Amino acid sequence: MSHAMAGVQDVRNQLFINGRFVPAESGETLASINPHDNSVITEVAMAGKADIDKAVAAAEKALPAWSRLAAMDRGRILLRLADLIERDGEELARLESIDTGHPIRDTRHLDVPRTAVTFRYFGGMADKFQGEQIPVEAGFLNYTLREPVGVVGQVVPWNFPLMFTSWKMAPALAAGNCVVMKPAEITPLTSLRMAELMAEAGMPDGVVNVLPGLGAVAGQYIAEHPRIAKVAFTGSTATGRRVVQASAGNLKKVQLELGGKGANIVFEDASLDAAVNGAAFAIFHNQGQACIAGSRLMLHEKIADAFLDRFIPLARSIRMGNPLDMATEMGPLTSALHRDRVLSYVDVARGEGGEVLAGGKAPAGALGGGCYVEPTVVRVRSWKDRVAQEEVFGPFVSVITFRNDEEAMQIANGTEYGLGGGLWTNNLQRAHKFAREMKSGMVWINCYKRVNPGSPFGGVGVSGYGREMGFDAMREYTQVKSVWVNVDANLPPYFRR
Ligand code: NAD
Repeated sequence: MSHAMAGVQDVRNQLFINGRFVPAESGETLASINPHDNSVITEVAMAGKADIDKAVAAAEKALPAWSRLAAMDRGRILLRLADLIERDGEELARLESIDTGHPIRDTRHLDVPRTAVTFRYFGGMADKFQGEQIPVEAGFLNYTLREPVGVVGQVVPWNFPLMFTSWKMAPALAAGNCVVMKPAEITPLTSLRMAELMAEAGMPDGVVNVLPGLGAVAGQYIAEHPRIAKVAFTGSTATGRRVVQASAGNLKKVQLELGGKGANIVFEDASLDAAVNGAAFAIFHNQGQACIAGSRLMLHEKIADAFLDRFIPLARSIRMGNPLDMATEMGPLTSALHRDRVLSYVDVARGEGGEVLAGGKAPAGALGGGCYVEPTVVRVRSWKDRVAQEEVFGPFVSVITFRNDEEAMQIANGTEYGLGGGLWTNNLQRAHKFAREMKSGMVWINCYKRVNPGSPFGGVGVSGYGREMGFDAMREYTQVKSVWVNVDANLPPYFRR
């Protein structure tokens, strides 16, 4: 399906450097594919090292004026951008749907509004984030300045490209940094459109640069670059490790949002209907391609059968189809490569003695030509099995039963990941105990996957470090300078002559 047929008029497919769209120096391009039918949407320029160098130079040039602009004026541009995102919301939603496979009901009602809200939140934050005055010894004034880090590199994955562009850019820009951003090579279209909207909002040339490119080339070079002061990375844990190693050259600041294997625990006293629905949202929203997906569904043995009696029919009834159709609840996975990877885990599960209770294959019929995978529910033999430990990143949930709270805690914390997790219970004491003791950056009680620009987002363990959103994000994108002033201290000479 062409983008015009999908109701999208303008598709930008070049690199955005210094306020202009330009081809890659090498002339290289990569096809951006619509995963619904594997048709080519457009050929997108792929940045190499020379292009990244140009973007870094543009960002360095823009930095002094941008960082010294009144914070309120930086905020004003982000607020204007939020309005423009809403103005063009329908087109952005359609573009995101054809590039990623997200159902339009989500891109319209979740991704686009959340993107606008994130820029609005940080636009408002720009002039409210401040340093401190420290009560030190008499005679001195000590205060802190919160200074931008400088030119920051940002590397974004393909699962929520539009939303993650806002999560990364909004705090960085509010704090006065300049940005060189690389979207994932397979989903660059909405980030490029955003760059255009930024220019329209009044962003000075060079402050924001968006360069699609291959991870191993452009992403790696951003992580290595000697004149990039910080790299913020969202992606897999394996790539996160590479980013840390590459960053060592100039000891750049690193922020990592990596993989997860979210425990979603349903206790025997939970309200079952709410838990069933919440658990389905936790794993099947966005085809399970979410770092915080509730991919380990932990059921108390007393309610496991009753829960599955409702959950399995619900999973089977999820409407898969063209992402542009408002009735569609689950679209295709974002690429054919990824679909095959997800399906390979069904074989792993069977090999481990897991029982496939629903799905486990690509759908038959017309959708079989796209990158679709049926909502898949697998009862695992042990919580230590590979499919209960490794991130599948698809519509694939591993069901684990437990006998009591102690066992639930052991299983929940029995993974090297620690991003998000949820629990369903009406026992207040238990809820807070688990919230405190789960090794996880985020915990949801009687809900799952709630996010808000004011609420810190990030993980522990191999899920990464640093936090997006809220004041924490502003701290990540600034460095502290401590200033000492002798107001009226009488300093005796240290060297008496
Ligand atoms: P990925 O690690 O393969 O790629 C992420 C990005 O890194 C892409 O832009 C890619 O081009 C780039 N990249 C690849 N190799 C690189 C290298 N050597 N140096 C620098 N950059 C490189 O991940 P993915 O498959 O695109 O995304 C899925 C992963 O992202 C999952 O593991 C998921 O859990 C994780 N994720 C985490 C969060 C979070 O906030 N914690 C959010 C979304 C996704």
